[in-house]
Amino acid sequence: MPSPAKLDVDDFLSRLKDRTPHEDAFHQAVGEVAADVIPMINDRPAYREAALLERMVEPDRVVSFRVEWVDDDGRVQVNRGYRVQFNSAIGPYKGGLRFHPTVTPSVLKFLGFEQTFKNALTGLPMGGGKGGSDFDPSGRSEAEIMRFCQSFMLELYRHIGPDIDVPAGDINVGAREIGYLFGAYKRITNNFEGVLTGKGLSYGGSEMRTEATGYGVVQFLDHMLAAHGRSVDGQNIVISGAGNVATYAAELATDRGAKVITLSDSRGTIHDKDGLTPEKIDWVRDHKSKPGASLEAYANAFDAEWLEGKAPWGVACDIALPCATQNELDEEGVKSLIDGGCFALVEGANMPVTSKGLKAVQQSDLLYAPGKAANAGGVTVSGLEISQNQMRRDMTKEELCALLKDAMKEIHDKCAQAGRINDARVDYARGANIAGFEKVATAMLAQGVF
Ligand code: GLU
Repeated sequence: MPSPAKLDVDDFLSRLKDRTPHEDAFHQAVGEVAADVIPMINDRPAYREAALLERMVEPDRVVSFRVEWVDDDGRVQVNRGYRVQFNSAIGPYKGGLRFHPTVTPSVLKFLGFEQTFKNALTGLPMGGGKGGSDFDPSGRSEAEIMRFCQSFMLELYRHIGPDIDVPAGDINVGAREIGYLFGAYKRITNNFEGVLTGKGLSYGGSEMRTEATGYGVVQFLDHMLAAHGRSVDGQNIVISGAGNVATYAAELATDRGAKVITLSDSRGTIHDKDGLTPEKIDWVRDHKSKPGASLEAYANAFDAEWLEGKAPWGVACDIALPCATQNELDEEGVKSLIDGGCFALVEGANMPVTSKGLKAVQQSDLLYAPGKAANAGGVTVSGLEISQNQMRRDMTKEELCALLKDAMKEIHDKCAQAGRINDARVDYARGANIAGFEKVATAMLAQGVF
């Protein structure tokens, strides 16, 4: 039998769009990977014979359920809950839960698809998944959040397990929510097991998990700059977001001698010309933990500029770290960064750059690292939390710091090797896509078709 025909990127994507209309974010994520891996697939008949890419863009399953709960006024509320179990070729499904009004099956499919490659890059045995709800926790009381988490778990528990699927946090799902979700799982199943990561230290959580994503972003940046004869020290950095990823990236960057001059939230950006300090970063964390708190208060507290309704991309800088959410940086934003002197762009969020923005990045000299590589530190420590739970032995903070550091170096090196174009230039996005794809592809090939 002759080998199946070679794939064409546009044709592959247009067929995907026909099959999955209105899933723009998912098409965008697949498009970025397909453009890089299709030329390689076309060189390898075995990959085409096994229809690897066609199979990889179909999630193993998408679970969709109703989440009903009673608010503080006694009214019954209904939200939609989901878990996308995308790919388990190299390990149990693994990936976060996001609670945000923008959560749709398309967004979770894009996140689950990316997570599959990210997790493959960590070198740990984790498949890809993602889940969450369109629930908006902003302004909700502690009691409402607890009831929502309990109701969410009342269905989710059927689909997860320490060797099946291990969720974690993502946007608006932090230690508090993981605690409520874990408590509900344990109560429903009568099993105390490592079914979630990001747990509190007193009940099976891991040291370093909170810091891991943000620290890992800066460690990746460090390696990328070193490979190009530069360093983080003395650079002006703009960061978007004010959550876990943004604040820990700011903390480590500051520690490395950089000056972090912005953070942002959905209402605007703070521009602090003097740069953030550890004390100011702690203030942000404390302030943002209050329901409905805006960063605007920072401007008054520390004599910084408040850019109402604006993202940080117009602020002149050397390095940009988008750490808020998907598609937060468009073509215009990329151009402003370049005009402002920015030479490196490293993604702390998942897919923060729009398709057109990415084209502008690719046509520029920006040193660019994609989220699926640069923000993999979080899920790496989640993988180590799973190991600690399975061994029933906790590692020390020092051990975990060292393991995270090594992992980020290895992820950088894998992407640099697979993405090397010539002596002077590395395409890290291509490297991440190819290295991640190869690992999943090898496992799928070995496991056959059924
Ligand atoms: N939500 C994080 C991510 O995007 C972490 C996932 C995890 O720890 O499972 O990678």
